[in-house]
Amino acid sequence: MKVTEYIQQANGKALFSLEIIPPLKGQSVTELFDTIEPLMEFKPPFVDVTYHREELIEKRHPSGLIQKVPVRRRPGTVGVCAKLMERFKVDAVPHVICGGFTKDETEDFLYDLHYLGINNVLVLRGDPEKSAGVFKPKEGGHAYATELVEQVVDMNHGRLLHEETEAQPTNFCIGVAGYPEKHFEAPNHSNDLRYLKKKVELGAEYIVTQMFFDNQKYFDFVKRCREEGITVPIIPGLKPISTKKQLTVLPRIFHLDFPEELVHAVEACKSDKEVREVGIEFGIQQCKELLDFGVPVLHFYTMGKSDSVQRIARAVF
Ligand code: FAD
Repeated sequence: MKVTEYIQQANGKALFSLEIIPPLKGQSVTELFDTIEPLMEFKPPFVDVTYHREELIEKRHPSGLIQKVPVRRRPGTVGVCAKLMERFKVDAVPHVICGGFTKDETEDFLYDLHYLGINNVLVLRGDPEKSAGVFKPKEGGHAYATELVEQVVDMNHGRLLHEETEAQPTNFCIGVAGYPEKHFEAPNHSNDLRYLKKKVELGAEYIVTQMFFDNQKYFDFVKRCREEGITVPIIPGLKPISTKKQLTVLPRIFHLDFPEELVHAVEACKSDKEVREVGIEFGIQQCKELLDFGVPVLHFYTMGKSDSVQRIARAVF
């Protein structure tokens, strides 16, 4: 079933969902599923699976020269989706990115998903390669998520890149990313919102937000979206803080601000065990407020852990 159908069917009652990350190449996929198994108690109708492009890794050549070689450290998005559907009987929402793909490769990738019976995708541009700093599409690939949304919509209408005759259509419900605290490359909120609106006008049916810790940022974002005429569901993305290090790491990676009171509470902790408790308590309050606001789904970024999410979900659902 499609994400939007689940939301409609829930009739105003908030759903629980999660995002998982494929394991590092060579690590156990069973361990990943065992980790998230306790979260199935909250009956997520769908689970997102991230996609990771290749990164340039430095390797020493036998001659002594250091070479940079492209390596995908977390392959397996499609396989993880297949196994996830089989083991937990949930719908998988694979992330599909522009980076590292030509349009033809995207078409093939989307057919792999279609043949598996997948009918939801989260369409993204992808981050710039760490070494490059700015996003560069692969030659013959898409530069923005808007273009990838258009390709998926074309495929949903049976229009392929090189076929003259109409093809067997795919049936993807398209989600896209939104940024309550603005995408880091956007010059301002209104410019960012202009392109978000374009993604929706082109065919995106719902938005999932970047993680945030200050609900007011989400409320303001929803208000701005509605004022711009963006009417699709806006699913908040959530992550319980669990280590002191995350106070510096998460803002650097995800370009977000922590509320002052959370920073003070985490700084006062003597161990990460205490930070985890603070994160859970904060998460419970954050989720209760979001539920009062009427969010369609509480969507958790699990990042390979489930204990904090489980305790938060137990307290709020
Ligand atoms: P876009 O919508 O293309 O926007 C990128 C920037 O360009 C923005 O600043 C926007 O304002 C601007 N812009 C957009 N369209 C245009 C246009 N037509 N012309 C000019 N400017 C434009 N990354 C991964 O690699 N794998 C994942 O699995 C993954 N999952 C994610 C899940 C969520 C919920 C979120 C929020 C992010 C995820 N990301 C993932 C990260 C994402 O790829 C990055 O944030 C990326 O930098 C932007 O992606 P986007 O789809 O928002 O890009």
